Amino acid sequence: MELFKDKVVIITGGSQGIGYATAVKMAEEGAIVYACARREKTFDHDNIHYHPLDVTDEDSCRKLFEDIMEKHGKIDVLVANAGITKDAMTRKMTGEDFDSVINTNLKGIFNLVRYFGPKMEEQGYGSIVAVSSVVGEQGNIGQANYAASKAGIIGMCKTWAKEFSRKGAQVRVNVIAPGYVLTDMVKSVPEDLLDKFAGQTMLKRLAEPEEIAEVITFIASDKASYITGAVIDVNGGMRL
Ligand code: NDP
Repeated sequence: MELFKDKVVIITGGSQGIGYATAVKMAEEGAIVYACARREKTFDHDNIHYHPLDVTDEDSCRKLFEDIMEKHGKIDVLVANAGITKDAMTRKMTGEDFDSVINTNLKGIFNLVRYFGPKMEEQGYGSIVAVSSVVGEQGNIGQANYAASKAGIIGMCKTWAKEFSRKGAQVRVNVIAPGYVLTDMVKSVPEDLLDKFAGQTMLKRLAEPEEIAEVITFIASDKASYITGAVIDVNGGMRL
């Protein structure tokens, strides 16, 4: 039996990295996946469809909601994964770089959940998984903007876990907090720093995107039907 048979799944930032790895896993489990990003992408898998989305653009988020409702009339899973970094030491970080990371990583999730969360509540079921980071829990030098955005996700999602289920709807909201993962996002990080981060894990290595996707897939699925309001660390035992 396929875990996501006929389930409608939206994955923001689904065009590459962790989001794409998750799209593949869920599509293999029968999901109808909408992999969303700003840049258009074509996918080999029949069940993965590209949908344009800029999470910072309120109209774009509303359009995604309207399109999904028109096509399917329901939403089963929202994986809020899109994220960016604009790292700098605080003394050099511009207000613009601070705002753009917050607007993408944090407000970008609100821009979608304001539509999809109440819809899930109305349906009586649904699962939201947001991708935070070990940095949101532990902080990291040069990432004040990113750490703030990722810590904010945790408070926001714990709020939604309470809010959307308060009348008994089976709407679950959870957060995944990965350590460093070998995707494009870390390509600009110097090799010696990545080695240092690997050394700060108990497993002495960084993660592959599939290792994060596996956990997102489980948490999003009915197999995790009694997990909500949780923050799941997937960081190889990392201490920053
Ligand atoms: P990538 O940089 O590989 O992919 C980011 C994805 O987000 C792309 O699909 C990109 O597509 C999309 N995206 C970026 N901005 C927007 C936007 N405004 N609207 C819609 N989509 C957008 O990142 P990863 O796969 O590494 O990261 C995925 C998530 O995991 C992020 O939230 C990240 O913070 C988090 N994470 C990553 C870690 C890592 O080490 N890699 C560690 C911990 C957490 P496009 O540019 O076309 O819009």
